[in-house]
Amino acid sequence: MESWNTPLPALLPVQPDRLKVHDTATQSTRHPGNLAEASLYVCGITPYDATHLGHANTYVTFDLLNRYWRSCGLPVTYVQNVTDVDDPLLERAAATGVDWRELAAGQTELFRSDMEALNVLAPDHYVGATETVDWVVESVEALVANGTAYPVPGTDGEPDGDVYFSIDAAEGATDWTLGSIGRLSAAEMGEVFPERGGDPDRPGKRNPLDPLLWRVARPGEPTWDGGTLGAGRPGWHIECSAIARRLLPAPFTVQGGGSDLRFPHHEFSAAHATAGDGKPLARAFVHAGMVGLDGEKMSKSLGNLVLVSNLLRQGAEAAAIRTALLSNHYRSDWEWTPALLERSARRLARWRQALATEEAGDGVAVLGAVHRALSADLDAPAALEELDRWAERAAARPAVEAVPEPGPDAPAVRTVVGGLLGIAL
Ligand code: ZN
Repeated sequence: MESWNTPLPALLPVQPDRLKVHDTATQSTRHPGNLAEASLYVCGITPYDATHLGHANTYVTFDLLNRYWRSCGLPVTYVQNVTDVDDPLLERAAATGVDWRELAAGQTELFRSDMEALNVLAPDHYVGATETVDWVVESVEALVANGTAYPVPGTDGEPDGDVYFSIDAAEGATDWTLGSIGRLSAAEMGEVFPERGGDPDRPGKRNPLDPLLWRVARPGEPTWDGGTLGAGRPGWHIECSAIARRLLPAPFTVQGGGSDLRFPHHEFSAAHATAGDGKPLARAFVHAGMVGLDGEKMSKSLGNLVLVSNLLRQGAEAAAIRTALLSNHYRSDWEWTPALLERSARRLARWRQALATEEAGDGVAVLGAVHRALSADLDAPAALEELDRWAERAAARPAVEAVPEPGPDAPAVRTVVGGLLGIAL
């Protein structure tokens, strides 16, 4: 599907790839492999409501990673999906009397414009679930054939033939074990599974936590040709698994998303891929923290959303929103406040003022400092503090007649900050 347009960052003097990120699966902060190229999959939105700051925080986090790799001269392949058919989307469409396709198209368009405003680099492949049903069907058929997926018989009100993934069969056939990706305890998994789309009480399942792979046709629901599975629509986790396997190496470098995707989503996307071909899904599973408002996680279901589009309409500058997001470490859970946005706007103004007294060599120094901070598990708050220190030094200088001439080996501070941090000064 159509992606969005963000200018690619200017080339910076190449910095070595020293990046260490926190991998949820191994619970360690480490280099995700010696890379000649990098590949990234970040789970996209289910387009039934506009981009809130929790989403923005996740996509800006992985934009930092994308920019870091590019600045190291690594070719990057970045894939993001749009879950443009799923229960919450269909439920919202039915409740508001809007066609589900129109709802999805409108909300996806709003997401694209929010990403463009926040200067998030566009993915190389932006793919909708509805565009990749054939890939899912092929993947599910392969899992049925190798015994890690099974059809569930119909019961009261449910038709015959929904296909589920067998946790127990996959554990017997692969290195994957339940919990090895998301690292949640059995009790935590049992608690969040029904909250995040799971159906533990569905009769006929072998294990209550087995996730849905293929939902056969129901009256009034959109359906696609499912080959030997029968007409129906894809489950959520297999969608990302099938898309990643088609468009990225196996394993790819980093699987990203919000920490609420640790389980069941990333746990099972990874399990489906491994059950299919025996290889891990990704080298590292990286998770961004949750943004809260008034003591609660910001979420569609709670309805306590601060929307990027609303902040922009109220006159907030996109660069200030981005600065506010980056002033919190990506792995922390934190609270959004209007005061944070005001502080970030003042900070941005100080950096811009300091450009007037920039000296030759400042850009290279800022590049080194920002690169060092980001290398340590994408420590954006430390990178911004480096900018504060530079701005303080620059502000103490007398006004200069001519700003230094930037060159490929001596980039201006504005180029470095725009390139690595995506903040337009
Ligand atoms: Zn996903």
